Amino acid sequence: MNSCSCGRSPIDTCVGWGNLNEDEYLLSSILWAKKKLRETDKALVHKPVKK
Ligand SMILES: [Zn+2]
Repeated sequence: MNSCSCGRSPIDTCVGWGNLNEDEYLLSSILWAKKKLRETDKALVHKPVKK
């Protein structure tokens, strides 16, 4: 089982954020959110958006 026991991972599997201090964790979650946003943007650009 790879599920996260520290409760900090944004996904099901643990990404090791439990070892980070508060600042590092905050930074990581921000970077993660930005990365996710970019991926979503790309996906939206790829698909034709119907209004
Ligand atoms: Zn974890």
